[in-house]
Amino acid sequence: MIVVSGPGGVGKSTIVDALIERDANLWLSRSWTTRERRQGEKQDAYKFVTREQFEQHISDGGFLEWTDFLGNLYGTPTPSAPSGKDTVLEIEVDGAQQVKRLNHQALLIFVLPPSRQEQKSRLHGRGDSDQKVEKRLQKAEDEEPVGKAIADYVLINDDLASTVDEMSRIIDYERKQRNS
Ligand code: ADP
Ligand code: 5GP
Repeated sequence: MIVVSGPGGVGKSTIVDALIERDANLWLSRSWTTRERRQGEKQDAYKFVTREQFEQHISDGGFLEWTDFLGNLYGTPTPSAPSGKDTVLEIEVDGAQQVKRLNHQALLIFVLPPSRQEQKSRLHGRGDSDQKVEKRLQKAEDEEPVGKAIADYVLINDDLASTVDEMSRIIDYERKQRNS
């Protein structure tokens, strides 16, 4: 299991989409969320559900992990990767901690922005409102020390292609380590 985590707007989804395209042995888990779909966001970016549906799924024991992130619920349904594929989770830090506790073997890659200013401009660039941008930037101050402490690898997402290459190399290396 590969967990890609990092503060909002750092580029996690963009990186993970590129990785999935490149590596046929990766399977991306689709999270559930109670937040509204952003304008222009892909229909299948999440399973968009009501709070009632989410809470029912918690009661049914259907999540590997879930959390409340800035007032909305996000969760990873119990993974069901096709056999032979490695599961990729793209989640925030609290969820990453939960997964690490459940599965010590999980590989955690924590992604940082080159600067807070660049993170801010990426958040604005993808259409987040001023209020959402400020909340995510503030949240990042708490998330980053925790993420760095629990991560197996920390990457700075400056140039996108280089980050994807680096992550790909890490995954190949860790596969070899685990299979030897
Ligand atoms: P996250 O999933 O971490 O919240 P996204 O993948 O939605 O972040 O990326 C936020 C924005 O930043 C998107 O508009 C994306 O195209 C852009 N982005 C991602 N990586 C880079 C990069 N290395 N350089 C410049 N822009 C980037
Ligand atoms: P966004 O609203 O920007 O799509 O996501 C907010 C944060 O929630 C991001 O850091 C994203 O990685 C995280 N997230 C997405 N899905 C999940 C999930 O299933 N579990 C947890 N814990 N976090 C998630």
